[in-house]
Amino acid sequence: MTVKSEVEIPVTDPQPEVEGVLHRRARVIAVANQKGGVGKSTTAVNLGAALAESGQRVLVIDMDPQGNASTGLGIDHDHREITTYEVLTAGISAERAITETTVPGLSAIPSTIDLAGADIELVSQFSREMRLSKAIEPLLDQYDFILLDCPPSLGLLTVNALAASDELVVPIQCEYYALEGLGQLLRNVRLVQQSLNPQLRLSGIVLTMFDTRTKLSEQVVAEVRRFFGSRVYDAVIPRSVRLSEAPGYGQPITTYDGGSKGAKAYRKLASEVLHRPVIDEAVPDEELPAVIVPEPTPEESEPQRRRLFRRKEGTRK
Ligand code: ATP
Ligand code: MG
Repeated sequence: MTVKSEVEIPVTDPQPEVEGVLHRRARVIAVANQKGGVGKSTTAVNLGAALAESGQRVLVIDMDPQGNASTGLGIDHDHREITTYEVLTAGISAERAITETTVPGLSAIPSTIDLAGADIELVSQFSREMRLSKAIEPLLDQYDFILLDCPPSLGLLTVNALAASDELVVPIQCEYYALEGLGQLLRNVRLVQQSLNPQLRLSGIVLTMFDTRTKLSEQVVAEVRRFFGSRVYDAVIPRSVRLSEAPGYGQPITTYDGGSKGAKAYRKLASEVLHRPVIDEAVPDEELPAVIVPEPTPEESEPQRRRLFRRKEGTRK
């Protein structure tokens, strides 16, 4: 079987059938990028919802003290009694922290600002990087996917997420500084692979907030594809007002506006995550460009162009 894409990709079933019984073990996927506001929470919520819509059993764990994924899934603060914080620091079972959402098949473990303390509280504790990994072990046969929405940092919460994951999905915003900090993230991934979790794979890059009106968006897509090749999903998430409104209504885009471009893009992404084989190769360690330099447009003046090049060379002001 093949999936439609620019190249024909052979599909391996991620959950192979063993003697007629589906082998069920959740694929644990960290959604991470230490750069803020690139679409991590939006992707965790909407990829989760789109996977659930296609019949998968999905758990989203909010690993960010900002609690944006929890809010986006409509979990109000009164229903955040047992959260990621208690699971990581007080040894409360993850099972007890699970909250159902309004989307069938989609559950969540919410977070609150309390989680900000976990980074410090865990520092002196034994096996502090493996807390999440141990906590979710009993849940692995109850779900098909466990998605971890990471905070915009490379601290202990993100390390716990990477140590607990089979796969890493990195959202990259289609903007000038798209690749900033990515080298550091990939170095951390290699460290986690070496010391805590050799199983971790960089399975995909998701391009987010693509703006059809800007040439820069297209150039970012081309540059990221040039660098990461087939690791970049075909699905590109458009910049869309509907996507940014949906969390305000506590709904994923698939229920808030199921026919919107954003909903379609996240469904396409879900389909790729489901059917595309995970790339079993080392994380690239070449130097990434700090910024993506836009091609000159006829109206761009020479001084403007020189400024852009100076920034690329590291004199960003
Ligand atoms: P943080 O690093 O703070 O956790 P994040 O990487 O999780 O941020 P999001 O919270 O998903 O990023 O998105 C940042 C903001 O951009 C939010 O207000 C969100 O609603 C908006 N946003 C995300 N994706 C899109 C999109 N495709 N179109 C329009 N707005 C979007
Ligand atoms: Mg977030």
